[in-house]
Order: sequence, then structure tokens, then C-alpha cells
Amino acid sequence: MQHAGIETDVAIIGGGPGGSTLASLILKYAPHRRVLVLEKEKFPRDHVGESQLPAVAGIIHEMGCWDQIEDAGFPLKVGATYRWGTTEELWDFDFIDPREVERIDRPGRYEGPRRFTAFQADRARYDDILLRHAEALGAAVMEESQVVKIHRDGDRVESLELRDGRIVTASYYIDASGHIGVLRRGMGVKTKAESSLRNIAMWDYWENADWAAEIGVGGTRVQVMSQSGGWMWFIPLGPTRASIGFVCPVDHYKTSGLSADALYRQAIANDAHISSLIEHATPRGTTRTTTDWSFTSERLYGDNWFLVGEAAGFADPILAAGLTITHAGARELAYILNDLFDEPRDAEWLKASYADTQLRRIRQHIRFADFWYAAKGRFEDLKEHCVRIAGASGVRMTPEAAWRWLAQGGFAHDGPGPPTTKTDAPPSLKQVLGKLAATKREWALETLNVLTLNLDDVDREVLPVFVEGKVVREAHWVRGQDRLILTGHYGMLSEVLAEESDLSKIVERIKRYCADGGGGRQPSLRQVMESLEAMLNERWVVGSYDTNKPCLALGRLEHDDQVHWNEAGASTHTV
Ligand SMILES: Cc1cc2nc3c(=O)[nH]c(=O)nc-3n(C[C@H](O)[C@H](O)[C@H](O)COP(=O)(O)OP(=O)(O)OC[C@H]3O[C@@H](n4cnc5c(N)ncnc54)[C@H](O)[C@@H]3O)c2cc1C
Repeated sequence: MQHAGIETDVAIIGGGPGGSTLASLILKYAPHRRVLVLEKEKFPRDHVGESQLPAVAGIIHEMGCWDQIEDAGFPLKVGATYRWGTTEELWDFDFIDPREVERIDRPGRYEGPRRFTAFQADRARYDDILLRHAEALGAAVMEESQVVKIHRDGDRVESLELRDGRIVTASYYIDASGHIGVLRRGMGVKTKAESSLRNIAMWDYWENADWAAEIGVGGTRVQVMSQSGGWMWFIPLGPTRASIGFVCPVDHYKTSGLSADALYRQAIANDAHISSLIEHATPRGTTRTTTDWSFTSERLYGDNWFLVGEAAGFADPILAAGLTITHAGARELAYILNDLFDEPRDAEWLKASYADTQLRRIRQHIRFADFWYAAKGRFEDLKEHCVRIAGASGVRMTPEAAWRWLAQGGFAHDGPGPPTTKTDAPPSLKQVLGKLAATKREWALETLNVLTLNLDDVDREVLPVFVEGKVVREAHWVRGQDRLILTGHYGMLSEVLAEESDLSKIVERIKRYCADGGGGRQPSLRQVMESLEAMLNERWVVGSYDTNKPCLALGRLEHDDQVHWNEAGASTHTV
């Protein structure tokens, strides 16, 4: 039987966060574009993966639906509580000082401290809000429309076939179908397991669980609790609902001889903290499982197709980075597609840089996850483990350098402002490292007072940057895996460092930059100092200590915007 065809500019397979972010941002910046989202299910539908990182909030804001998400009343996430590493004690890690959250009224606006909070989002509602938003911006959304076949001619997609036999043709085809990767498979793209970790996750939803830690007006922390066989997550999703999961090596599951449901119940019973939170709660009763999910795709694009979100690759959920990587990748792809419709001369370069950035982020998080699991052992073992992970990427390093590279590497290259699309800002990351390794780590900037640019083995390359709907071609420094954009804070810092080496003079210039509005970005002093710290960590800058000069005391930057100097033999004073 002959079916009527559907023709569009961009056909997106999958209406999850990847698909709806892509559709929304294409249409925000090019409202005339025809965008079709093909979704297998009828929304709202359940999905695992609820705990976000703060970087997502900025993208939701750019999409124009932050207010709708905020109105849904999802619990605010200010950080995480861990039982991990060298201690059996519970310890907290926060994106933001919880005292700031106590002053927050909800629903609020995307401003001030709300730029540094995240949501614990019930995915059925969250994904539905995003999809409806894409529709409101002009996307044609077809639910219960499963793509069952990819018609191809070599590396070109010719059309998509739906379950009801209809055929969709488009200028570009996007796989946002999640781990299934329907177009990825259809185009014969292989996947690669990037980690030796072979884990299985099992989870269920609970009604009437206690909130693990309530901080002020609805602030919460995700609970990450290790136990001998694996680790558990507890994510409060609303006044009565919680997502509770158990992750363990597949071998542990197999040798236990238990069903997934029985092992899940046993893990909960083993954990007194989680058990106490669900004393009065009832499970939905359908324990779901997924295995072996850490992978990357060998290719992320072809002639007229792209992979985005989890179809492109996935990192173990220990750091809750999946949605951050998905939203960020979909945002960049929206910019790139709009640019490609103008047929730029550098299309191949643009596509390759998209793939390069996404793969680097996913791999970085997979390696970071390896690092976290390794941190359950001794610190010395952990450093050696870091050398092996670095070696697998073709980087030869000492244990200390490998540790630093894994913990902080690649975080400084993502945008003209402070580092984004990462787990946390470098100094906060150091608090985590301290907890894992039982060693105290301070700002490197507090121990140095003479800074010099280090441009050994550095190339200057033009790379795409995604600003206000436009792909901007900007100069970067590139060294191995690392990239540093030469605009925004980093551009200013590079210029200052080329002229000054005395830290006190550098700080004066930074303060002037902030006072003048930081090129319209209104950065805080702390943000710019974090960028400088990131440059130091990534060796764009090297430092030394001159005994005749004062050192910085940056600890109080967490609470105010003053820089304090600690002069040799003198008490700390504020400049
Ligand atoms: C155990 C586990 C825990 C996780 N925890 C977290 C966490 O705490 N925080 C976090 O940020 N991330 C987490 N994640 C990751 C997160 O769930 C994903 O990163 C995110 O869902 C990816 O979004 P996506 O849009 O790419 O894919 P999805 O959200 O999977 O959406 C894909 C959509 O495509 C549709 N689809 C599939 N096939 C077809 C087809 N043939 N035709 C049409 N439509 C189709 C599906 O129905 C679905 O709606 C976790 C993942 C797992 C497995």
C-alpha cells in the first residue's frame, strides 16, 4: 500500500531531552525552519536519570522554558551526600552554599543563586514539559510514531519509515533515540566500550519516602551510598516520590544467584541510611534494570545525519552527568544545523568539531567515573590507576600529573565565561578530591605569587563557539587534549598574563575587569579567579613563589567578593 510522505527540514528521532532541546533551539533562532520530532511513546512516559547538574539550568533558560520547569516544583538540588572513599562517614558536596538556598522563594527566576542550583526532575513530567515547549515553538511533534527502518544510500539517509508505513524525508536526520540508537544502528555505526567497568543498574520508584536532607526551601542533595557490592542512589523527586537505584558489577549480580529484584531489596536492607528514609514508603513494585551502558559511538555524523544525546554515547551515572552532556550536545547541534543550512564553506570542519567535543566530554566522564570507582581503594592505587587511564588515551604521565589531568583536565575549554559542562568548578572539585584521597587540597593560587604564560607545544586554532544563536569562529590555544578559548575571561587573562607576572598586579587588573562589567558578562571576582585557577591547573600558566611578595588567601571568596592577602610575617588583610 502506498503511504503519503512527510517532508521536513530536520527530522528528529526521539522526543527525550536531546530531541526537544535540539528542536527548541533550532526554532528559537530560526523560527521558519520545519522541524519534525518523531516519538515512539505517548508522553508523559517514565524514564530513569533524574538528578541534574547546574549547567542544565542555563540551557533550559536559553530554550525559554526555565519558568515552566520551575513552576513544576521539582526539588532543588544543591549537591550530593556521599558515603564513599576513605571514610564510612557521610559527607556533603555542594554546588552552592546551602545558606543561599534558605533565602530562596519558589517559584523563582533564573538569576542570582538559582544559576548554581540544579533540579531533581521526575522525568515523566520534565520530558513532557520540554517536548510541549518544542511544540509551542513550532516543532511538529508526532507521538506514538516509532521509526522502524532507516532507508539509506551508502552513508546518506534517504528516508525514515514509521511503524504505520509512512515515509519521512528531510534535509537532515537526527538520532535522539537514546541508548537504542535507531539511526546509529541503521547506518551501521559501531559502538565502543570505553571502560572496563561492566555494571548493572536496578531501580524502582517509591511513594512517601522521607526526603534525605531538606535544606531550606526545598533544597536537597542526591544520596550516593557505597556498600560492599556496589552503590545506591536516592533521588527525592517530589513531596512523596523518590527514585532509588542500586549499581553493581555484572559479576556481582551473577555470582549472587539472586534475581535483580531480590538483589535490589537486599542492597536496600544492607543500607541503614536508605532503609530509614523509606521506613514508611511503598515501592511501585516493578524493578527495572539496564546493563553495560558506558560507550561511545565510532562516528557521530555522516553526510546528512547526526547522533545526539545518549544515542552518541553514555558515561556511568555516578556523577549524574548524562543530562548535562545531552542538553549541551543538543544545544551545539542546533547552532550547527542552523549554520549548515546556510551552506558554509567549512561544513566538514564544523561537523568534525561537533563530534570531537561530544566524544571528549563523554570519554572524560567515563574516565572520571573509573576514577571514582577506583577511589574506593587506597590513594596510591588510585594514582597508579590514573596513569593507566591516561595511558589508554595515549598520554604518558607521572602518577601525580595523571591524577591532576583526570580530576581537572579539559574543564577550561567550553566557553567564553567560567568553565561549563563539567561536574564542578575547579576549587569545589578539589574539596571532593580531598575527601576521596583524605588529603587537603587548596587553591593553587594561594601558594604562588608569580605567574607566567606557558605556551610550550601550544598551537593556535580557530574553533566554533556557540553564542546567542550564532556559531562564532574563535581563536583557541590547543595543546594535546586541552583547549583554551581566547575570548571572555580567558582572553582577558591571557592578555594580562602576557604583560604582568606579579600576582598582585594581575589581581588588580582582574578587579578592574569585573568592576567594568567583564565585557557585559558581569562576572564575580570568584568566577574569574576560578578561570585563572583552571588555567594554572591545565598548565597554560605556570607559577612560582617569591618570598618577598604576599600570597593570596582565597578561602573567603566563597562568601564575599574580596581578595585577601597574606603577607609574610603579617596578618591577612583585605585589598
Ligand atoms: C541507570 C541510569 C541512571 C541515570 N541517572 C542519571 C542521572 O542521575 N542524571 C543524569 O543527568 N542522567 C542520568 N542518566 C542518563 C540520562 O537518563 C540520559 O542521559 C538521558 O535520558 C539522555 O537523553 P536522550 O534524549 O538522549 O535519550 P532519552 O531520554 O532516552 O530519549 C529518547 C527518546 O527516543 C524515543 N525513541 C526510542 N526509539 C525510538 C524510535 N525508534 N522511534 C521514535 N522514538 C524513539 C524514546 O521513546 C525516548 O523518548 C542515567 C541513565 C541510566 C541508564
